[in-house]
Amino acid sequence: MRLDGQVAIITGAGSGIGAASARRFVDEGAKVLVADMHEVKALALVDELGDAAAFFQADVSSEDDVEAMVGEALSRWGRLDIMFNNAGFGGAIGPVETITTDDFDITFDVLVKGVFLGIKHATPIMREQGSGSIINTASVAGLQAGWSPHLYSVAKAAVIHLTKSVALELGDYGVRCNCICPGIIATPLAAGFAKATDDQLDEMKARFGRTQVLGRIGDPVDIANAAVWLASDESSYVTGHAQVVDGGAFAGKPWNKQHESMTAQRPIKLYRPDGR
Ligand code: NAD
Repeated sequence: MRLDGQVAIITGAGSGIGAASARRFVDEGAKVLVADMHEVKALALVDELGDAAAFFQADVSSEDDVEAMVGEALSRWGRLDIMFNNAGFGGAIGPVETITTDDFDITFDVLVKGVFLGIKHATPIMREQGSGSIINTASVAGLQAGWSPHLYSVAKAAVIHLTKSVALELGDYGVRCNCICPGIIATPLAAGFAKATDDQLDEMKARFGRTQVLGRIGDPVDIANAAVWLASDESSYVTGHAQVVDGGAFAGKPWNKQHESMTAQRPIKLYRPDGR
């Protein structure tokens, strides 16, 4: 019970990483406000979790919604210990010259403004309490270009920097702010369809898993476990941190898996400088 008696808000909790985190947080003793703009899956999750969870419909890009969401957690449970700003989507895709300013605004409204608003409205409560853990979902795409479309990468880089900047301000009040940088995780977002079926997710796991360092892509619970740690007192000396959880993908490309066909033709042997 690492989160016993704590109150959490998780945005984007109707699916993928957010849903897995809601389950893990409740397992660890927290009360969770399951916040999402879509209600169907979120309501089913709240049903499954029972009294420890409640649903709140919110679009994280709307300040009114985020303010009301934080107010709901407070009026229901009287405090806010964990603000997990996790909601997201793939954003605009395509060559840079085809991206419109509307695409830009919509992408940044959700991926950056949504995180900013969650931090903004959680801060006064946590400062008053003298404690709190803010967790933001960034991405390895925010650490290095090329993992995802332009705007998604830039937005996630902004989330990482916002995390660090806010951590420096809130340390004086006992409030920590960290982010998680997932690699590829088997969720509808990564599969490219909001309504991805289990079969489509299994197909994605099989297709990409083979080339990964650990022989598999991530499961949402891999990120949820990192979130539990960042939420709990076990990470009480950790703030301003971008926690990479990617099965080793950001460490580099596994040369033996990249060159499978080459090594199949030519067996690997010791390379000696004298050429023997
Ligand atoms: P997902 O599609 O399974 O879940 C995302 C949830 O966010 C959905 O329930 C959706 O309804 C909700 N959402 C989207 N826009 C919203 C808004 N404006 N307001 C409220 N809710 C909104 O995807 P996921 O993979 O679990 O994504 C969670 C986070 O993880 C996102 O921030 C995503 O960018 C990040 N991420 C995912 C991966 C991956 O490979 N899946 C990798 C790196 C980072």
